[in-house]
Amino acid sequence: MQSASYRVGRAFLCRADYRSELMKSTLDLVREKKIKMALFAVIGSVAEATLAYYDQSKREYRKIRLEEPLEIADSWGNISWKDGQPFAHLHAVLSDAGGKTYAGHLVQATVFAAEIHLLELIGKKLEREHDEVTGLSLWKFKKQGLK
Ligand code: ZN
Repeated sequence: MQSASYRVGRAFLCRADYRSELMKSTLDLVREKKIKMALFAVIGSVAEATLAYYDQSKREYRKIRLEEPLEIADSWGNISWKDGQPFAHLHAVLSDAGGKTYAGHLVQATVFAAEIHLLELIGKKLEREHDEVTGLSLWKFKKQGLK
């Protein structure tokens, strides 16, 4: 187990713009407010979305296209760094008109209405790097002296 500890900084409540792309809106907020690390959650609804499922044997993401209005019933994510840029990682549970749910790694979504709740974390920047074992971009602690 590798870990790092942080203090909680500012808390933000934000309303994403109609028709904006959810992940881009989140990263725009992060850049505008000069947030280095954060935890965030989003609730609301989207006009369409793309989720992804990571195929562990093939070591690749399989996209799940959802071309219909959906509720963001739940989500949870974090902001860290990848390739020297802020990177948003969000997992979401989306529900359709009948209450059927789809869940996974959120790739992109077009906002109908969405509330972003973001908690800034104060501490060292955590970078993602390619992990040979899983094929994923995972947090690297030791290289940055974070144990
Ligand atoms: Zn993910």
